[in-house]
Amino acid sequence: MGLFKLLVLAIVVFAGLTLWRRLQARNAGRSTRTPGINTPEPMVRCKECRVHIPADKALRSKDDWYCCAEHRDTHTHE
Ligand SMILES: [Zn+2]
Repeated sequence: MGLFKLLVLAIVVFAGLTLWRRLQARNAGRSTRTPGINTPEPMVRCKECRVHIPADKALRSKDDWYCCAEHRDTHTHE
């Protein structure tokens, strides 16, 4: 019976490794998708046209945000 037990153990280990690899692959697939959902880009609103734009692409003047230089200038040159 010693050989039979060894065979069962080998199958259990193989099944466990296969399951582990599947879980790892699934987790890896999830982690590549989630950053866009879990960490949204901070959005700001243009004071002139009220368009929402990512903060890193927006232009800032004092406490106000603008989508482009023209819109910023229309307020700063008043
Ligand atoms: Zn604008």
